Amino acid sequence: MTVLPPPTCPTCQAELALQADHGFDAWVCPAGHGLAFTLSEAYERLRDDEIRTIWRLANTSPRADGVRTSTRGCPMCSATMVAVLCDGITLDVCTTDEVLWFDAGEIEQLPADVPDPVLSTEEQAALDTVTEQFGDALTAGWTAEEQPTLTGRLTARFSRSSTASAAS
Ligand SMILES: [Zn+2]
Ligand SMILES: [Zn+2]
Repeated sequence: MTVLPPPTCPTCQAELALQADHGFDAWVCPAGHGLAFTLSEAYERLRDDEIRTIWRLANTSPRADGVRTSTRGCPMCSATMVAVLCDGITLDVCTTDEVLWFDAGEIEQLPADVPDPVLSTEEQAALDTVTEQFGDALTAGWTAEEQPTLTGRLTARFSRSSTASAAS
């Protein structure tokens, strides 16, 4: 595996922290701006048709509907990314590095019918106990299987990442 320089947050330029979780590697901004993951990781955990749509749109020229130049630079190479609208959220894509960026600000733009990923008091208490016993790796659980939409899965993923960071 090639060793790359640590990716940085497109918003605050902080080094992103790699979180490996059940075979899904994502880089998370320590300040909570969002998370980055590679196309190959996305194929592991998201639905193929979603990824194909995102990738096809990101590579269209001229820009198709729902595709525009991003305001953000790639976490890896700093080149301006392509913003792709998919399933109600915008993902920023670097087609050179095959990296996708999910901005935490997107969570606020979610449709109202997306399930709230925030944990209940009981769940949080249980999570805290597990965190104390086993550490963050276990609690940053990937819940793709439970989430019907791309949005829901990414939101759940980010929610868990933030929770794990805050608990450490
Ligand atoms: Zn940041
Ligand atoms: Zn790049």
